[in-house]
Amino acid sequence: MKCECASLPEIFYLSEGPEGFEGSLKLLDGKDWVNLYECPECGTLWAIDAWDKYRVRFAMRLGSREAWPTIIPVEEQKELLLASRGGTTDEMCIWEDCGKHRVKGVVYCIDHLYEAGARE
Ligand SMILES: [Zn+2]
Ligand SMILES: [Zn+2]
Repeated sequence: MKCECASLPEIFYLSEGPEGFEGSLKLLDGKDWVNLYECPECGTLWAIDAWDKYRVRFAMRLGSREAWPTIIPVEEQKELLLASRGGTTDEMCIWEDCGKHRVKGVVYCIDHLYEAGARE
């Protein structure tokens, strides 16, 4: 079976990736709650959050072995979170002196939404 690595984004929610994606990869290493995987088909390296039933898991493509160990950067997580919420509105975050636009459907900006623990 042909792998789907080439058609996947740089970072995505594991739950929204191809079915059985994690199981199709070879586990190489694990550190600080992130696991390093290699695709046996094309050799692409993926960093995937370790399993935790209370946590949303991210998968991120790594350009090379030198990029490991890594964590999934907060800025990347925020970008994905913002995209999954549909972007921002014209209204302002309710945090005093924040000055950033609200994320759709909530009264917080992306920074304060993330701080509140939202990940998807
Ligand atoms: Zn692949
Ligand atoms: Zn804010």
